Amino acid sequence: MQRPIPWVWIALAGLLLLAPGTVGRLFLDLAEGLTLLLLVLPVLLGVGGFVAWQLLQRRLQPCPACGFLSAGLDVCPACGCDLAKTKGSSSAGRTEIFDASTATVDVEAVDVDQST
Ligand SMILES: [Zn+2]
Repeated sequence: MQRPIPWVWIALAGLLLLAPGTVGRLFLDLAEGLTLLLLVLPVLLGVGGFVAWQLLQRRLQPCPACGFLSAGLDVCPACGCDLAKTKGSSSAGRTEIFDASTATVDVEAVDVDQST
């Protein structure tokens, strides 16, 4: 079942657009504002999201023991490492956390044939 074409509303909208007057001007201003809002709103949301992501990334702090990212916590939620203690001291005083690339592992070589 086809709906009839609403010629009355089309004619009324055309009259509003063509007729010089306050109603036609208001209609055009409203359409212009809505179009501008639809075009500018995604850009504004994108810029706002980017700035919020940068702020959040600056606040995130990796756990020195497991690498879990958290913000504003004193204890790592993943492993329970004390983040407040490691945040204050930079390198001195750390006993359990060290850089693995500078560590030296001592290995004693044992001859298998002589031990039997
Ligand atoms: Zn952790």
